Amino acid sequence: MSETKIALVTGANKGIGYEIATGLGTRGYRVGVGARDEVRRESAVEKLRTAGVDAFGVPLDVTADLSVTEAAELVERQAGRLDVLVNNAGISGPPTGQGWAQDPTALDLDVVRTVVETNVIGVIRVTNAMLPLLRRSTSPRIVNVSSSVASLTRQADPDIEIGPVMAAYSPSKSFLNAVTVQYARQLADTNILVNAACPGLVATDFTGFQGPRTPEQGAATAIRLATLPDGGPTGSFFEDDGVIPW
Ligand code: NAP
Repeated sequence: MSETKIALVTGANKGIGYEIATGLGTRGYRVGVGARDEVRRESAVEKLRTAGVDAFGVPLDVTADLSVTEAAELVERQAGRLDVLVNNAGISGPPTGQGWAQDPTALDLDVVRTVVETNVIGVIRVTNAMLPLLRRSTSPRIVNVSSSVASLTRQADPDIEIGPVMAAYSPSKSFLNAVTVQYARQLADTNILVNAACPGLVATDFTGFQGPRTPEQGAATAIRLATLPDGGPTGSFFEDDGVIPW
């Protein structure tokens, strides 16, 4: 088996995903750049290659069965296995009023469906398609990019400042966390470690480029979880400072 480790990052054409791809690439991983738009994907691959990363493009819309099946086939042809899967692609869904707020009493149900389809069902779809390839790795890692706004403990604590009510996005990431725990339990007797990561508040397209952290800083926890040693944690939720309560 080739020594070079293989990673796939979903939504890697920009933002935090791009920086996760960069960080893994500069650590010697060969990186599949999962992205749904051909122009954005190829431009990210080109940029990564210029930065010295061994990158290849993986057409991937996490909401589409055929796209995900074909992505797994492409990774198999390109690399024969997968060592790291980072489920980073995500959307917030539109606000119901000013700013980022999503008022639960005024939510369009189609927004909830679309956000869950991408942030939760998309992760399950991609993970299950990639699992046969991950099982061929000696130290497989799955990282789900979540958010601290998924923490029910923090959301329920009036003394913690956690931003506006986001009734589609926050629960979608709580759902993703719950799914992460189920994968970790199911795979507990394998060498696959499955964890969730919060990048912090990062200035990307997602936040209208507001937020104190750079995409590179936002990528750090996901990179750490993607490169955990054997015997490392599984079924947990981390930010830079350590474990986040569920
Ligand atoms: P971003 O710059 O908007 O990037 C999101 C990425 O996801 C883009 O590459 C986008 O592709 C991709 N994507 C969306 N839907 C997709 C689909 N159906 N199939 C494939 N790719 C899809 O956002 P970001 O800030 O880097 O966010 C990355 C992750 O971090 C998300 O899961 C987000 O929830 C999480 N997060 C972000 C923050 C923050 O402060 N930024 C905080 C906590 C958590 P296109 O370019 O084609 O749209």
